[in-house]
Amino acid sequence: MRTITLIPGDGIGPEIISAALEVIKATGVQIEWEYQEAGLAAIEKFKDPLPKHVLESIQRNKIVLKGPLTTPVGSGFRSVNVAIRKEFDLYVNLRPVKSFQGIPSIWHDVDLIIFRENTEEFYSGIEHYIDSIKSAAEAIGIVTRFSSERISRYAFEYARTHKRKKVTIVHKANILKYTSGLFLEVGQQISKEYPDIETNDKIIDNFSMQLVMNPHQFDVVVTTNMFGDILSDLSAGLVGGLGMAPGANIGKEIAMFEAVHGSAPDIAGKNIANPSAIILASAMMLRHLGELDAAIRIEIAVAKTIAEGKKGTRDINPDNPITTDQMAEAIIKNM
Ligand code: NAD
Repeated sequence: MRTITLIPGDGIGPEIISAALEVIKATGVQIEWEYQEAGLAAIEKFKDPLPKHVLESIQRNKIVLKGPLTTPVGSGFRSVNVAIRKEFDLYVNLRPVKSFQGIPSIWHDVDLIIFRENTEEFYSGIEHYIDSIKSAAEAIGIVTRFSSERISRYAFEYARTHKRKKVTIVHKANILKYTSGLFLEVGQQISKEYPDIETNDKIIDNFSMQLVMNPHQFDVVVTTNMFGDILSDLSAGLVGGLGMAPGANIGKEIAMFEAVHGSAPDIAGKNIANPSAIILASAMMLRHLGELDAAIRIEIAVAKTIAEGKKGTRDINPDNPITTDQMAEAIIKNM
């Protein structure tokens, strides 16, 4: 039996994770869960948002299923999500954006994959006030050839193996001539090794507008850390919101699966959060583990449940909402 590190997270984390565990159990795949606390829960218990024993558990099990973790805004501890990605060099953030039939959304038939560089640039946490009276602050965003190369290669390789047709490199190389410029230059170099895949590039502002106006023109997108973060929420908004957006953080030997969304404190504890994103992230995890049949069963069941109508949480079915638990039950029934 495989052991997987499970971090339920906080806010809506425990509710959606418990729904995902029920769905995974229904696939019949045998998994032993090693529960770990991080973030707010770990501060209360261990006075450390990311205790050593949690890192050891991840290192040992190599696979993590994680609920969202709150990061205080402005002050307080640094993001535990970012810390885990950096600690284990989970350099690929893979975020699929897919339309589901039956969800009220701006666009239908969207099927796009965003690859976000996950370890550097403005998320490196290299920032400080320039003086003691905080008259100004400075952040350093480092972009390396090495990291740009490996994320670009991963995106092109994925495009080839998944029969995708086009990769769009998203950047701001007109203004950030060195950092974004390097990312673009490397991406274009890598693209030469993939003549079977069409490549183009777009400046982030124009890309954002075109994505909203006509998302169907894009297929695979590769971009730097902050642009990738913002674009994945924007793309989720095109297909019905964050409740439907799963993600994977992948390194050489360790991978962590989670929803794109955060801890949603505004709806936490009410049993109304949409569990689909974390359930779809669980399917991505099973796929990664080679449990293809189980992964496909989950993906089809989620799609079927939503397509039936009247079987969604408030965010996707505002007129006749069901609870988080009821949605998990409906998905299991459709498996
Ligand atoms: P959020 O993603 O938590 O919520 C944004 C909006 O989407 C809210 O209105 C929320 O109710 C809604 N929403 C999110 N998930 C939903 C779901 N499953 N079902 C229905 N509605 C859902 O963003 P935020 O409010 O800006 O951030 C809250 C906290 O989460 C912050 O501390 C932030 O740092 C953290 N965060 C964590 C992660 C992560 O753990 N990977 C990612 C993003 C944000």
